[in-house]
Amino acid sequence: MSIPFSPQRPLRVAVVGAGPAGFYTAETLLKQDIPVKVDLFEKLPAPFGLVRYGVSPDHQKIKNVIKIFEQTASDNRFSYFGNVNIGHDISVSGLKEFYDTIIFCTGAQTDRPLGIKGEDLIGNYKASQFIGWYNGHPRFKDCQFDLSNKVALIMGQGNVAIDIARILCCTKEELAHTDICQHALDALAESKIEQVHVYGRRSAFYAAFTPAEIKEMAQLADCSPFVDPKDLELDPVSAKELESPANALRQKNFSILKSFTSFPYVSRQKRFVLHFNRTPVEILGGAKVEKVRFEINKEGHGIGQYEEIGCGAFFTSIGYVGEPIEGVPFLYQKGIIPNHQGRILEGEQVIGGFYVCGWIASGASGVIGTNKLRAQETVHSLLEDLKDLPVCKNTDTQDLLSLLKERGIIPVTFIDWKKIDAYEIMMGLSIGKPREKMTKVSEMISITKKKY
Ligand code: NAP
Repeated sequence: MSIPFSPQRPLRVAVVGAGPAGFYTAETLLKQDIPVKVDLFEKLPAPFGLVRYGVSPDHQKIKNVIKIFEQTASDNRFSYFGNVNIGHDISVSGLKEFYDTIIFCTGAQTDRPLGIKGEDLIGNYKASQFIGWYNGHPRFKDCQFDLSNKVALIMGQGNVAIDIARILCCTKEELAHTDICQHALDALAESKIEQVHVYGRRSAFYAAFTPAEIKEMAQLADCSPFVDPKDLELDPVSAKELESPANALRQKNFSILKSFTSFPYVSRQKRFVLHFNRTPVEILGGAKVEKVRFEINKEGHGIGQYEEIGCGAFFTSIGYVGEPIEGVPFLYQKGIIPNHQGRILEGEQVIGGFYVCGWIASGASGVIGTNKLRAQETVHSLLEDLKDLPVCKNTDTQDLLSLLKERGIIPVTFIDWKKIDAYEIMMGLSIGKPREKMTKVSEMISITKKKY
C-alpha cells in the first residue's frame, strides 16, 4: 500500500543502532525534502557506539564528530530511545507495526575468531574485550587483563591492533588526561609490559594499518618501534606492485617501516616490534598463556617451519563481524546482513521496508566518515522505494512506549542522556580528565531519573 506522506502523516523511520552509521542515516533522512519522523533505537543507554566505545581515548579529536550527531539529535523530528534492545525487548516484526521502514545500523562488535588450540587459556584476549574495557563498555567493564609479563603479542595488523599496541606502549602521563576509564588507567600504570610484538600473516606489503596510525608509534614519549630489515623483503610481484601510484598509502607505510629498522633505542624504553609472514597455529601454556606457536609463511603459504614466542598476554585483533538480529536475514560467512545498496535481501529477494547501513551492511572497514557515504546510498534506495513501502499499522509512538513499559523497559531519551553526559563530564573534571564514563547500566538509568 502506498500513502502520500505529509507533515500530519510523515514517513516513520526506525533506525536501530546509535553509532556513526545510525546518526549519519538519521541526518541524511532529515535533510531530504520529505516529511519524516526518525526514531533512533540503541540497546545501551548511551549513544554514539563506536565513537564512544571504540575510538581510542588518546584520539580525542576524532570524537568531535559527536557535535554533528548532537545537531541531528536537536531536530524536533528526531527522537532517541536508548536502553531498548531490538530483537530482544521487542521483536523486529513488533517494531515494524509502528514504522514504515526500519534501517539496521548495528555495526560489527564481535571479534572474528582465530580458531586455534589454546584460545581458552587465561591471557588470551580479544580486541573487543580490551578496547571495551578501557573505553568503559558495560559488557567489558569487569574484564581482567594480566599485564604482569614483560612480553605481549598481538595478532593482526589493522588499525585496531595498532590502537591496542599504542595503549600498551603509552606512559601513564600520555593517557592521564584522556577519557580512558580510571580503572584501566590504574591497571595500565602498573603494567609490566616492556615489549609489544605485532604479527601479520602476510608480508609488509599487505599491512592493513594506515600511515598516520603507524607513524604515531614513533611519536610516543617512551617507546621505540622496530622492524627487522629482513622482514621488509618482498617477493618480486609485491615489490613491483609497490611501485604503482595506486599503492601510495602502502608506499608511505613502507617508508615509515623502513625508518623503524634503525630507530634509536634507549634500553629503558618500551619496544614495539612488527613481524610479518607469521600465522599463529597454537597458544601454549598450562592454565595461562605462556607461548604462541607461529608457522612461518612465504608468499602467502606456510613453509612447515615454526617458532615459539614466549609471552604473558596474547591479543587477537583480526577484524570484527556483526551480530545476527532475531528476525533479520544474516550472512554468517561474512558477518553482515545481506543487502543490495542497503536493501535487505532474503536470498535474492528484497524484503520491502527493511534497510541496512554501516559495518553491519558492508563489513568492518573504512573510517567513521565513510559511514556518511554509506548512509547516503541506503537513504537513496529507500527514497526510490517510497511508493511501494509496506506502511505501518500504528503511528503512535506512545503506544510503543507503553508496550515497552509493560515489559519493564525504560527507554533513555536524549534529554536523559544529556544528564548522564553532564554527570560524566563533572566526574572527569574532578580528576583532571574530559570525562569519566559510567559503566553500569543501572547507575546510568538512575542518573536519568534525578531532577535538576
Ligand atoms: P582490518 O583493518 O580489517 O585488519 C584486520 C587484520 O587482521 C589484518 O592484518 C588481517 O590480515 C588480519 N587477519 C584477518 N583474519 C585473519 C586470520 N584469520 N588470521 C590472521 N590474521 C587475520 O580490521 P581492524 O583493525 O579491526 O579495523 C577495522 C576498521 O576500522 C578498519 O577499516 C580500520 O582502518 C578502522 N579503524 C580506523 C582507526 C583510525 O582511523 N585511527 C582506528 C581503528 C580502526 P590480512 O590482511 O592478511 O587479512
